[in-house]
Amino acid sequence: MSDDFTKSEYWYWSTDLSVGVCQIDDDHRLMFQLFHEAYLLSQNQPNSIALHFGLASELVQYIESLFKRKEAIMLASSIPFYENYFSIHKLLLQKIQQELSLIESGKKSVIDFVIFLRNWFIGYIKNSGQCILEYTARNEHNIHLALEKYASLIPKQRCHIYLVDDDEAYINLMQAMVDAAGFKCTSFSSGALFLETPITNDDLVVLDLNMPEKDGIEVMRELTEKQLSPAFILISGFDERVLHSARQFAESKQLNVADILSKPIETEDFIDTLINVYAKCKLAYLLKETKDTKDTKIIEKPSEEIGIDELIQAINQHELIIYIQPQVDFSNGALTGGEVLVRWQHSEQGLVFPDQFIPLAEQHYLMGELTEAVILESIKAYKQIRTAGIDIRLSINLSAQNINNLALPEKLETLLKTHAISPETFVLELTESAILTNTSESLDIFNRLRMKGFSLSIDDFGTGDSSLKKLYQSPFSELKIDQHFVSRIEKDPDAISIVKVCVLLAKEFKMRTVAEGVETQAIWDKLKALDCDIAQGYFIARPMPITDFINWAVNDKN
Ligand code: C2E
Ligand code: CA
Ligand code: CA
Repeated sequence: MSDDFTKSEYWYWSTDLSVGVCQIDDDHRLMFQLFHEAYLLSQNQPNSIALHFGLASELVQYIESLFKRKEAIMLASSIPFYENYFSIHKLLLQKIQQELSLIESGKKSVIDFVIFLRNWFIGYIKNSGQCILEYTARNEHNIHLALEKYASLIPKQRCHIYLVDDDEAYINLMQAMVDAAGFKCTSFSSGALFLETPITNDDLVVLDLNMPEKDGIEVMRELTEKQLSPAFILISGFDERVLHSARQFAESKQLNVADILSKPIETEDFIDTLINVYAKCKLAYLLKETKDTKDTKIIEKPSEEIGIDELIQAINQHELIIYIQPQVDFSNGALTGGEVLVRWQHSEQGLVFPDQFIPLAEQHYLMGELTEAVILESIKAYKQIRTAGIDIRLSINLSAQNINNLALPEKLETLLKTHAISPETFVLELTESAILTNTSESLDIFNRLRMKGFSLSIDDFGTGDSSLKKLYQSPFSELKIDQHFVSRIEKDPDAISIVKVCVLLAKEFKMRTVAEGVETQAIWDKLKALDCDIAQGYFIARPMPITDFINWAVNDKN
């Protein structure tokens, strides 16, 4: 179930990988940084094929340059077996090109690609290292001359990093850490000076909250007045509570606070945070780039934009298909269910994800039709799953519009009866906000669904302003803790508290807890320790087409 790639040591170059030639070591170190970055980026945006392809192509360009530089070094130092390397390089580039086309067509994930490259790279360094040194040591001057013709492997830094802190010693320290993380930055010793610099929303600002004339909160306030919203990492010598209220201020103004750190700052924490946040800034930037290019395409060819007529046609012509993501029991890893997630198999655009058409369907009151299509597909899938001997629940997402329809419970019941499926096996998920915005009529619908045997689940729990009373009145049997909190559980004490409260609350109301967005072993361990019941997330498996899901359940699960 797990994979080595969650082990962080594999994402950093370390001295035991040194080949003794500083130019080569520097290039190798940079490649690790790029692998890591691509890995983080692809995790953040698992569904964007355009982004994945962009990331993978960028990696390939770097590898090509790295090979060129290495070949130049080998020639310059007259290494006798250089031809072996040249042919290894050539073969690898061919293989990489094949893999790239798989990514472009959505058949391979960039994560697998990055892991493949990185593992290969580690082996490559280990096997090639020592024997080079013997020759390069005698030819340093030649190497230097040869490399002048080749550009250094400097990554394009798309987001600028600013350090703002009145404490000189801290500035120096942070600057050294930024260097160690492989980035460049500009430092300011006062908020006022920093505010004179033109920055953009793509930038990253490491901001000390406690500064004499203009403190960090004022700096943030002035930036919002200028309509600027870069990403912030907040730093403070104050206790956690000050940082906490600064974060709340930032949230009330919808500022982008990526992380908060207290002084004294641990080098490792800072570098980790910086690499993570930088990855997110770069991601936002790349997405904007892909979106911009998409937008220009739309101007050239208006037909590419998804229109409501096209969506209606897609529903009628069964172009909506479903993927299923497994849910497993924390206590023993057993498969207990699957969440049905809709996709649109678009004839020109390939697989389109729900965030690109559900809002459109909602806007045009099409959720009744869409949900019906999903339920019909789910019934078919359920039969296949049963035939394969797998006995699980299927969770289906309902929208607020579905629970305005008073006839829904009877309609669903009849549908399942015709197919001889018991309602107990269907879990209906509703987001916390949909439950709360609905009226007394929805309560009536919930009760009738429950009485007919369906399970009801509160989705994205923790994101709405829950009223305990309303929750108490509603007959829900499952609570899904929002991924936002789950993904932060390793570092953010607030997230831990929220998850703890969710689990306690659920137990009090005799509900099952499902944690969504379980991405790593560490997150799994933490949630298991907190007594959460069911896990769903990439650590277990991604959403898959039905046949893959069955194969996974039967063959690969462990
Ligand atoms: P959701 O109900 O919260 O579904 C979970 C989403 O999180 C899915 O995105 C899933 O692919 C993604 N996810 C699962 N595990 C992880 C993980 O470990 N890390 C991260 N970062 N993400 C993970 P997807 O499939 O793109 O669906 C997005 C949303 O679209 C869903 O959020 C749901 O609100 C909506 N949706 C999907 N299918 C339907 C449907 O049939 N009907 C309705 N009404 N809404 C749907
Ligand atoms: Ca859901
Ligand atoms: Ca959810």
